[in-house]
Amino acid sequence: MSCVLTAEKVQKLKAARKVLKEIKYEPAKLEKGYANKTLYINLSDNSIVSKDVTEKMKDVFIGGKGFGLWYLWNAVAPSTKWNDPENEIVISPGPVGGITQYPGAGKSLVVSLSPTTGSVVDSNVGGHFGPLLKFSGWDALEIQGKADQEVIVFIDGNKGTISIEEAPLEAVDTHLIIEELTEMYAESEEDKRNISVVSSGTAAQNSLIGLLNFSFYDKRRKSPRVKQAGRGGIGTVFRDKNIKAVVVKFNGVKGDLNNPVDLKKIQELGIKLHKEIHDFDAIQTQKREVGTANLVEIMNDYDLLPVNNFKYGYHPETWKIDSKQIKKKVTQNMPDGCWYGCSMACAKAVDGFELKTGPYKGHKVLIDGPEYETVAAVGSNLGIFDLEHILECNFYCDTYGVDTISLGTTTAFLMECYESNILNKEITGGLELTFGNKDAAMELLHQMSRGEGFSKIAGQGVRKIKELLVKEYGADSHFLNDIGMENKGMEYSQYISKESLAQQGGYAMTNKGPQHDEAWLIFMDMVNNQIPSFEDKAEALHYFPMFRTWFGLMGLCKLPWNDIEPADNRQTSEPAKVPEHVQNYVELFNSVTGKTIDKKELIVQSERVYNFQRIFNIKMGFGQSLHDNPPYRSVGPVTVEEYLSRQDRYDQQMKELIGVDPEGKTIEEKMQITRKYREDQYDELRQTVYKRRGWTENGIPTLEHIKNLGIDFPEVVEVLKKHL
Ligand code: SF4
Repeated sequence: MSCVLTAEKVQKLKAARKVLKEIKYEPAKLEKGYANKTLYINLSDNSIVSKDVTEKMKDVFIGGKGFGLWYLWNAVAPSTKWNDPENEIVISPGPVGGITQYPGAGKSLVVSLSPTTGSVVDSNVGGHFGPLLKFSGWDALEIQGKADQEVIVFIDGNKGTISIEEAPLEAVDTHLIIEELTEMYAESEEDKRNISVVSSGTAAQNSLIGLLNFSFYDKRRKSPRVKQAGRGGIGTVFRDKNIKAVVVKFNGVKGDLNNPVDLKKIQELGIKLHKEIHDFDAIQTQKREVGTANLVEIMNDYDLLPVNNFKYGYHPETWKIDSKQIKKKVTQNMPDGCWYGCSMACAKAVDGFELKTGPYKGHKVLIDGPEYETVAAVGSNLGIFDLEHILECNFYCDTYGVDTISLGTTTAFLMECYESNILNKEITGGLELTFGNKDAAMELLHQMSRGEGFSKIAGQGVRKIKELLVKEYGADSHFLNDIGMENKGMEYSQYISKESLAQQGGYAMTNKGPQHDEAWLIFMDMVNNQIPSFEDKAEALHYFPMFRTWFGLMGLCKLPWNDIEPADNRQTSEPAKVPEHVQNYVELFNSVTGKTIDKKELIVQSERVYNFQRIFNIKMGFGQSLHDNPPYRSVGPVTVEEYLSRQDRYDQQMKELIGVDPEGKTIEEKMQITRKYREDQYDELRQTVYKRRGWTENGIPTLEHIKNLGIDFPEVVEVLKKHL
C-alpha cells in the first residue's frame, strides 16, 4: 500500500481514542472445531455479551452461514429494514475453518439484511479474520445496534479483552485504515501477521452496494492486504452502524488449535491435495499464476463473457484484458494464499501500481486481484478493454468499499439506458455514459466516494434505479425489466446464461440473488450436454446449490473442490461432482468434529440450512415463485441487434427445437416466438426444480419436507403456515 504512515501519526490517532467500553473474558479452548461461545455486541448501548453455543445450533446450523442465519432470524422481525438498529452483521468461520493442513480453510461467512434485496444475504470471504476470531474463543461475532459516533471494535484473543473505542481520526477508505490499525495494534513487525481488520470505505456509506474488506498481513510484501465480502451491500450496513473497523488480534496460530479428533487424517488429506495442486494446477487452471483471471479468455471463447450489459458473449478485443496480459501485471513467484496452508494460492496481487485518477492520484498501491468477475464487470461488460482502467477501478472499488460486480452490472445497465435515450447528460449531470467510456465510468465511482452527483442514483443498484426511471422519467418498465440484470434486487454476476437453461435457474432460483456461488452449471449444461432433460437439470439444481452451501457452513473455500481435479476424475461416473474431493470433505468434517457423516448426510446438512434460508426469505416477504423470475436478458435476446448477433443459432433452434420454420418471418416475429418458447422452458424447469427440492408450486417448502429435515421448529412452522 502507499505507506506514508509515520510513528507520529499513529500516536495522534491513538491519543484521540476514547474507550467507550471494555470487558475482560477468558478465551475458550477449542474443542472439535468449536469454541462453543459466540460474541454479541450491541453498539446502541455498548453491551458486550458472551453466548453459549447449543447442541441444537451445531446439529442443525453447523456453523458459518448457518450460525449467521439463526442469529439474524432471532434478531429481526418481518418489518425490520436493513438500516434499523435491529439488523445485525454476523461473522462466523465454521467448525473446519482455521485448519492449516487442507487448502482453502480460512473463510468467514457474513450474514445481514441487505440494502438492495431487503432480505437476508450471505457473503463468503477470505482473509484471516474468521480463524483469528475463533482462536480468540468465538465461533461467531454478532453486531447489532448503531453507534452514536464512529467506532472501532477491538478483540484481543491473547489478553482476553474486547473494547469499543471511539475512532474520530482514522481514515474510512480501506487501504489507509488497515495500515493505520495494523500499525497501531501490532507491537512489532512480526506481530502484524496476528492482526486482521474488517473495514469498508467512503463509497459504501454513499451507496447501497457497499462491501466489507477482510485483511491479512502479507509478510513478504510487508503490507496488509484484503479480500472482499462483496455481495448484497453489507459494507453499507457496516457504515450505517457507524463502524470504521472491527479488529481481531491473536498471536499463536498453530495447526492443531481446532483441537480436532484426528489430526493425522487431516494431514493425510491435505498432503494428497497439495500434491494434486502441485502436479496439475499449471495444466488445469493456473490459479497460482493468474488467480481466477484465466476464465476471461475461456468465457470469451465460449461466447459467455458479458459484453455491453450482457448483450453479447464475445468481443474481438478481449485479448487486451485476458490472463496473458494480466499475468504480466500480477507479481509472480509469490505464495499468494489468503490463509495459511492454501497452496492453491490464487489471491494474486499487482504491486506498485501508480494511480492516475482520484484522491490518491500518483500513489503507488497494491491491488488485490484482478479476479475474473472484476475484469468482466468493470471491463468487458462496460465495453472497456483497457487493463490499466480495470486495475485502477479494482483498487478504488476495494478501498472505497463497493462491490465490483454490482457496480459493473449497474453501470452497464445505465450505459444501455443512456444509449437507448432513457438517460441523457442532463440527468447524469454531464456524464456521457456510453459503452466504452472509461473516464465516465471512473468519474461515477469517484462521485460515489464523495456522495455527489449522479452517483446518488447509480449507487442504489439496478432494481431501485429501474423504479426511479419509470416514476421520474416515464421510462418503459417492460424494457427496463428486460435489460436490468438483477433478480431479488441483487445484480447478476458475470456469466451469459442465455444458452444454458440450467444456469438461468442457477441464477434466478437462488436464495440470496444471482450469484454464481450457488450453482455454476453452464459447462455441464451447454458445453458438455451432461444434463439434457428437465429432471437432469433439476437434479443438478438440487445437488450443486446444496453442496456449495456446505462450504459456507464450514468456513471453506470452494475453489480447491473443483478448480483442481484428481488425474482420474474424468473416468469417474460423476466427474462434475469431483467424487474424490467430496469424500475428502466428508472425512475432513468427521476428522475435525468426531461426527460420522457420509456424502448423503453432507447434502442433508446443507439442505436444512438452505431450506431455512428460503423460509427466512418468506418471513421477510420474499422467497416465492415470483421472486425467482429472471430478467429476460438472462434468458434470451431482448433487442434486434442481440438477435442478429446470433441469428444462425436462434433460427436453427426455432426450426429444430420449436418446430417453426423461420423462413419469411420478420426479426420481431422470430424474437416473439423465441421468447415464448424460452420463457415456457424456464417455467417448466422452475416447477421441476421446486418438486425436486420438496417445495410447492409457489416455491414454498412443504411442512412434510421441513419435518423430514428436522427444522420444523414452531417459529418456522408459523411462518410457513401463513403461506401454504
Ligand atoms: S483458493 Fe484462493 S481464495 Fe480460496 S483459500 Fe486459497 S487463496 Fe484463498
